[in-house]
Amino acid sequence: MSMSKTKYVFVTGGVASSLGKGIISASLAKLLQARGYSVTIQKLDPYLNIDPGTLNPYEHGECYVTDDGAETDLDLGHYERFLNTPTSQDNNVTTGRIYQSVINKERRGEFLGKTVQIIPHITNEIKERVRRLGNTGKYDVVITEIGGTIGDIESLPYVESMRQMLWEEGRDNAMNIHLTLIPYLATTGELKTKPTQHSVKQLMQSGVQPDVLVCRSQYKLPQEVKDKLALFCNVRKEAVIESLDADTIYDVPNLMRSEKLDEVVMNHFHMDHKAEPEMTVWNKFVYNFKNPKNEIEIGLIGKYVELHDSYKSITEAFIHAGATHETKVKIRWIHSGGLEEENVERKLGGLDGILVAPGFGERGIDGKIEAVRYARENKIPFFGICLGMQMAVIEFGRNVLGWPTAHTTEIDETTSCPVINIMEDQKEVTDKGGTMRLGAWDCELKEGSKSYEVYGAKNISERHRHRYEFNNDYLKDFEKNGMIATGKNPDTGLVEIVEIPTHPYFVAVQFHPEYKSTVLNPHPLFVGFVKASLVHSKY
Ligand code: GLN
Repeated sequence: MSMSKTKYVFVTGGVASSLGKGIISASLAKLLQARGYSVTIQKLDPYLNIDPGTLNPYEHGECYVTDDGAETDLDLGHYERFLNTPTSQDNNVTTGRIYQSVINKERRGEFLGKTVQIIPHITNEIKERVRRLGNTGKYDVVITEIGGTIGDIESLPYVESMRQMLWEEGRDNAMNIHLTLIPYLATTGELKTKPTQHSVKQLMQSGVQPDVLVCRSQYKLPQEVKDKLALFCNVRKEAVIESLDADTIYDVPNLMRSEKLDEVVMNHFHMDHKAEPEMTVWNKFVYNFKNPKNEIEIGLIGKYVELHDSYKSITEAFIHAGATHETKVKIRWIHSGGLEEENVERKLGGLDGILVAPGFGERGIDGKIEAVRYARENKIPFFGICLGMQMAVIEFGRNVLGWPTAHTTEIDETTSCPVINIMEDQKEVTDKGGTMRLGAWDCELKEGSKSYEVYGAKNISERHRHRYEFNNDYLKDFEKNGMIATGKNPDTGLVEIVEIPTHPYFVAVQFHPEYKSTVLNPHPLFVGFVKASLVHSKY
C-alpha cells in the first residue's frame, strides 16, 4: 500500500521534558505499520556531542547501537522494539553532527565564499538529514522526533527546519504533533490547560501551527477541556488526543488507537484507511506480559543501577522473553560497587538468575567478579554481557585455573596474565568517539552448545561495542578446564561466546544481544536464560 510521496510527521514536546515523545512516536509508527504502511522514526538530538557514545549513561541513559555501528539515543531502541525493523546512523542526528558536517563543508570550500549561517546552512543540513530517509523511497511515512522542549535555545534550529519543511512539503505532506502535559491541581481538582496554551503559542511564534495535540494527563480529559484546547490552540477537536499514564509503554499503541491518533494522521494526509491495524502478535504479547503464570527474580549487577535507563534494552529484553514464558521477570538491582565476598550471600541469595551487565572502567569490577563466582559455584543460571563476559573469563582464570593475576588490560595494563586484552586494531586508537568495534559482526556457533540450542542456528550476527577481547593465547587452558568458546567470529577467531557446559546454564557473550530483542522477536539468549532461571526457581 505504498504512496507516491513520503509523508513527514514532526513530533515536538512542550511544557515539560520526559513526556514520552519517543513512545508516542513509536506507537503511532506501530499503528501505521500495522495498517500496512512502511514507517521509520528519526530522533534529532539538540546536544553538541557527535553521538551519545561518549556520554556517561547517567546523563542520557543507555547508548543504543545499530547494525551499522551507530552509537545512538536510547529512543532508537524503542523504535526497533516496537517496529521490529532495524534503524541506522541516519535515524539519529545530533547538533554536533550537523555542525561537524557543515564546518567540514566550509573547510572544503563548498560554500563558495558565502558567509556560513544557521539559516540557511545549518537548517539545510538538518532538512537534508530528514529528507535523506524519505528519499530512500523505502518509507511511506517518516516520523521525526525533535528532542528537548519547545522554547529551549538548543532546539531552535530544528524547529526552524521543521517550519521550513512544513512549508516546502506542503501541509498535505507534512505535519506537526505536539506532545504536552495537562497538570492536575489537587487543591481545586482541576486539569489545567494554560501551560499547553503557552507552549503552543511559543511554537506558533516560531511559525509552526500544531496539527495534533497529544496531551499527557493523569486523569481523563473531559470533553470541555478538549474543546477548550481545540479553541485556544487552533486544533480540530478530534485532533486533541488524550494520553493517559499507562501501566506499560506497550499499552500506548492501543491507547493511541482508541484515541484515533492514527486515523487523525491518516485523514490529515488523505491516506487510505483500508486495513484495521493487525496487532494480533502484539496483543498476545501484552496479554502474556500482564497475566504471568510464574515469577522469577534476576539479579542485574552493574555500576549504573541507580538509573535504570542505563540498562533499558536489557530490561525490555527481559519483558519480551518473560512474556514468551508467561513469566514475570523481577529485577533485583545490585550495585557492583558494594558487592564483596562477605555480603554476596545476603545480596544475591535467593536469585533465580544472575546477569552481569556491560560497562567500562575499573569501578565495580571486583563486585562483578564476585557475582560471577557466586553464580558459577552455586550453579545459578548466569548470563554475562560484554564486560560481563570478560569478568566471567577473569573469574574462571583466577578461581578455576588458579591464576591470581588474571585480568583485563583495560584495568591493569601490565598484568602478567592478560586473559582479556586490547584488540590489535584498537592499540593505536586515541579518539574515544565512534572508535570501538561497533555494530553487527558475524558469529559461528558450536554445535551442541547452549547457544546453538537457543538460537536454533549455526550462523548469527550480533551487535558490538567494545575494545577488548578474549586473549586466544589462553584458550586451550580454558577449554581444557571447562570453559568453552562456543561462538567465534568466523574470520578472525575472536571469541564471541563462552560457556561452562557442566553448569546448568552459564553463557557469556562479547556482544550485546539486548539491542536486537523486539516484541515480535524476543531475543533467543534472553528467552533461554529466562527459561533456565524458571527451571532453577522450581527447585
Ligand atoms: N569495557 C569493555 C570493552 O571495551 C566492555 C565494553 C562493554 O561492556 N560494552 O571491551
